[in-house]
Amino acid sequence: MAEPMTPDEVVRALTHWRVPFRRVDGWRTRNRNKVGPWGPVYGLVVHHTGDDADDKIDLDLIVRGRAGLPGPLAQFGCDDDGTIWLVACGRANHAGGGDPRVLGAVIEESYGGYPPKSREHTGSDGSTDGNNNFYGVETFYSGSKAPTAQARRSLVLLAAAICHHHGWSAKSVIGHKEWSDWKSDPGHVDMKAFRKAVARRLREGPPNPVDQDVYLERAARRLRAASIHLVLADQNLKRAIDEGAKVRVIRGRTRASAEATKEDAARLGRQ
Ligand SMILES: [Zn+2]
Repeated sequence: MAEPMTPDEVVRALTHWRVPFRRVDGWRTRNRNKVGPWGPVYGLVVHHTGDDADDKIDLDLIVRGRAGLPGPLAQFGCDDDGTIWLVACGRANHAGGGDPRVLGAVIEESYGGYPPKSREHTGSDGSTDGNNNFYGVETFYSGSKAPTAQARRSLVLLAAAICHHHGWSAKSVIGHKEWSDWKSDPGHVDMKAFRKAVARRLREGPPNPVDQDVYLERAARRLRAASIHLVLADQNLKRAIDEGAKVRVIRGRTRASAEATKEDAARLGRQ
């Protein structure tokens, strides 16, 4: 099952895993297949773009590339709000050269917390080209601090969707810094902990629809503090928020709708 996913399979997998995603025009046929092989695929490499530019600028960069590095620069982008952008389908310019020992460890999924430390990078004598074998997701942040909670949550869902499609474990997901000894991305993401979150998501399956988008009404702010604490104390709701579920505050709703949100929380508790 190392055939790369088709565009339809990508959409099906991401929909099933409730990954919040949007399509960049032309993504189905955007790739660099003409310059090298694509597949067999063995895993997913997580990246950061390395800047805190406007997400639109980062997205444009990944689609087009930059001087000396033609796009697409990944199959997927992940913005600060946790939207996964479908950029390309096929070979992309993201992983570059890396260590074949790491590739072997990913294929075997046999390593402990971390794959063997990479000793290779683009252009080094013993390197192998990761663009042949890895999907890539570029996360739109500088790496000088952690990605947003929403971005991290969506990255975990995306990784779970891809691993589940191929029958892989979370050990098929690595950071660029684990592939190339030149790289430090994704910054402030411990990949062992990240893989643990992916493994847990794979065990638990796709999130509940209610987890996807938790609405806390502005009216709830006017309820007694005790009521609000009651809502937030619900473990499942709290976990959804911890995992980066979007909390949207809507102006002008009634107390009744705030109460309905409490009911949602109670329902979550029973699921
Ligand atoms: Zn990278």
